[in-house]
Amino acid sequence: MSLVVQKYGGSSVSDAASVRRVAERVATYARAGHSVVVVVSAMGDTTDDLLDLAHEVCEKPPARELDMLLTAGERISMAVLSMALNNLGVKAQSFTGSQAGVITDEIHGKAHILDVTPVRLRSSLDAGNVAIVAGFQGVSCTTKNITTLGRGGSDTTAVALAAALDADVCEIYTDVDGVFTADPRIAPAARRIPKISSEEMLEMAACGAKVLMLRCVEYARRYGVPLHVRSTFSGKVGTIIAEEPHGLFPIDPHRMSDELDTLPGQPTATDEETSVEQPIISGVAHDRSEGKITVVEVPDTPGKAAAIFETVAGTGANIDMIVQNVSTIDNTTAISFTLPESDAPAALAALRAAQETIGFQDVRYTDQVGKVSLIGAGMKSSPGVSADLFHALGQAGINIHMISTSEIRISVVTDQELLEEAVRVIHTAFGLDSAGGEAVVYAGTGR
Ligand code: ADP
Ligand code: ASP
Ligand code: MG
Repeated sequence: MSLVVQKYGGSSVSDAASVRRVAERVATYARAGHSVVVVVSAMGDTTDDLLDLAHEVCEKPPARELDMLLTAGERISMAVLSMALNNLGVKAQSFTGSQAGVITDEIHGKAHILDVTPVRLRSSLDAGNVAIVAGFQGVSCTTKNITTLGRGGSDTTAVALAAALDADVCEIYTDVDGVFTADPRIAPAARRIPKISSEEMLEMAACGAKVLMLRCVEYARRYGVPLHVRSTFSGKVGTIIAEEPHGLFPIDPHRMSDELDTLPGQPTATDEETSVEQPIISGVAHDRSEGKITVVEVPDTPGKAAAIFETVAGTGANIDMIVQNVSTIDNTTAISFTLPESDAPAALAALRAAQETIGFQDVRYTDQVGKVSLIGAGMKSSPGVSADLFHALGQAGINIHMISTSEIRISVVTDQELLEEAVRVIHTAFGLDSAGGEAVVYAGTGR
């Protein structure tokens, strides 16, 4: 019998009925004799509601207290799921991240997992329990404070536990049938991707496809944890994320009886993944969480770019794209860059403070931008992809503000109000639209 780690996202446990449905699914696995560790997110939009509450009582909530508050969301889910399982006659015990041995650094709000010591989980499993763990949280080994791992962090908890327990598979249950060629909420013609390489999934996640947290994909890749993203609501086989998309993959030993699809690793002649040619493009991702800073009339002399980016780096901001335009008229340049909206206030304040020393004329900011990215490992050997992308956007009258590329990705920044249209236009232009309307969104608010 095998050990499976299952993670259920917020929309999968949004109310009592959904918790009971999850309990039924977990019970099927436990009754079949598998050892099951379940990681849960906070119910529905609880995390956002708690964040709103914090800001209603305090302009700048202390990071330590914010983490204490937010981790309460996952504690509710773990306890009610445990009760629902006990009600079905399945023995279960719930654990906070700290009790489960999730050890992190001390950075509140975006802590990194340093170690996992799942001693209590092992003894609970050995005693015949389903072990339920509150996702998204851990405890700092230095300060002993409770920390959170950042938005979407329960995905990372699940993978870290799967690695530490040497689980056979880590299943990420969510409100869509897997990883799609674009967010099904904005591209209804999106197609489910049966298998995707971790390299491409990393780019998708880094570019905003929040179906998996970026750090979780990195972690799974580093520790060789097989990931299976699938729906809580349908029972269909979802998306397998593996190092080599064509490589042999362990068969999912936990197949539910109502699953109609082919098992991963056992392709049939009808399965898309049997085709010898991998598609050049895997998908389109979008991100609205970044803002754009433009530093105007920077003297065009050596050292100025360094001074600007040292100033910004000093605030801990995560810079994404950078563009510099040199003016031929007055020997000045304009430097624009994007960064997470949450990092913008500190970066702007630091730049304004350094304005006189660096000698630029002005600094401007907008959060009304969005980034759309085209991802595909096949791009490496296919010239003309950028030209086709820019042509499609041009035809649709969508202006491009910034461009950046990697070996397997092209990203462009557009006006935020045109972002969703840009995703659909690119999806269609690269032949990704499905005829059958496979993309179903079962639950969630997309918040
Ligand atoms: P959970 O609460 O289960 O963690 P999330 O809201 O974090 O769920 O992630 C699932 C959502 O990710 C989907 O509802 C979908 O809107 C969004 N999403 C964005 N890009 C993609 C993609 N390429 N494939 C599937 N879902 C995506
Ligand atoms: N509840 C947290 C969030 O909303 C963590 C998670 O769901 O993974 O980001
Ligand atoms: Mg999530």
